[in-house]
Amino acid sequence: MSIPASGTTATAPAGEAARHSLIGLSREELAAEIEGVGAPPFRARQLWHWIYHRGAKDFAAMTSLSKEFREELAQHFTIERPATSRSQASLDGTRKWLLKFADGNEAECVHIPEEDRGALCVSSQVGCTLTCKFCHTGTQPLVRNLTAPEIVGQVMLARDALGEWPSPKEGRLLSNIVFMGMGEPLFNYDNVAKAVRIIMDNEGIAISRRRITLSTAGVVPMIRRCGEDLGVKLAVSLHAVTDELRDEIVPLNKKYPIAELLAACRDYPGSSQARRITFEYVLLKGVNDSPAEARQLIKLLAGIPAKVNLIPFNPWPGAPYECSTPEAIAAFSDVLTKAGFIAPVRTPRGQDIMAACGQLRTESLKARRARTKIEAASA
Ligand code: SAH
Repeated sequence: MSIPASGTTATAPAGEAARHSLIGLSREELAAEIEGVGAPPFRARQLWHWIYHRGAKDFAAMTSLSKEFREELAQHFTIERPATSRSQASLDGTRKWLLKFADGNEAECVHIPEEDRGALCVSSQVGCTLTCKFCHTGTQPLVRNLTAPEIVGQVMLARDALGEWPSPKEGRLLSNIVFMGMGEPLFNYDNVAKAVRIIMDNEGIAISRRRITLSTAGVVPMIRRCGEDLGVKLAVSLHAVTDELRDEIVPLNKKYPIAELLAACRDYPGSSQARRITFEYVLLKGVNDSPAEARQLIKLLAGIPAKVNLIPFNPWPGAPYECSTPEAIAAFSDVLTKAGFIAPVRTPRGQDIMAACGQLRTESLKARRARTKIEAASA
């Protein structure tokens, strides 16, 4: 099922300088921008409220500001969202947007609704350098880090589509944010941290740190800092219980092996039984899915307030793995559950719109390459 794509990039009329977007600026940067056009810094607070609490899409809607000031703002700035090259809705309610940034690069974000809440899975980079063997994004070359405006833009776009402005206090469809889209957020820490601070700000989007999860393949030196600075929840893509296997499927392990990674998790500031660290474990048939490995996992996680997310492998064309059998998944989960772990098996969502990591963008890249071939052939 397709829903129409929306959004445009700000194009200045000929002869005019390009207008900057105010989305994704810190409070201080926002104040500095408007000071530059002669407005006192306290106006930044009002603007913040309109942009991030009310979700205004143009300055004209900001009725508590004088007409002159609104016109001044509109001359210099925009609050337009990132453009979307594609936007899809799954039969199960999952929605996926392919964002197209001003330089033509694309990244995806996915909203996964549940009964009384919903998570937005955001991307932190275009492509990824990690080359995890089971992940499709790893087969794409890294193009670049996303900026804070591009990360915040994903949330703004989803909130627009879900009609959740002004920021609702309760019953939100977009209640949680997970950095589990494309990219490694701890390789783009500064931009991610800046975006997270904007998203958490109580006078704006106001999604609390308890509802934001940053997922990492294990960039050990950044883990503590992330906990100290941001206090968000941590998810770790573990996927294997021996260094030998993890070296192969998550090559970052060669730099930061399992023991170092788990030591950083034990020290993660703010984790507790109420705020467990999530360990993600993709189940690959005959590779990492035996009951013996489940038992080894229990030993490794001793002393860490942990929860395990068991993720059936989502296959992609040419992938070197298959998904574990339902029996193997049930047996693996059973070992963990009997040992007292919360270990849900994640049901794949949005399969009809290819919600597997990196797929939508790849489809779009393929289509573009095919078009280029056709154009080249007919030239
Ligand atoms: N770089 C970060 C965040 C992006 S990947 C990290 O590694 O955690 C987020 C999650 O996507 C990974 O834990 C992995 O479990 C999941 N993932 C990637 N490709 C997948 C696939 N083909 N099937 C199932 N899960 C996949």
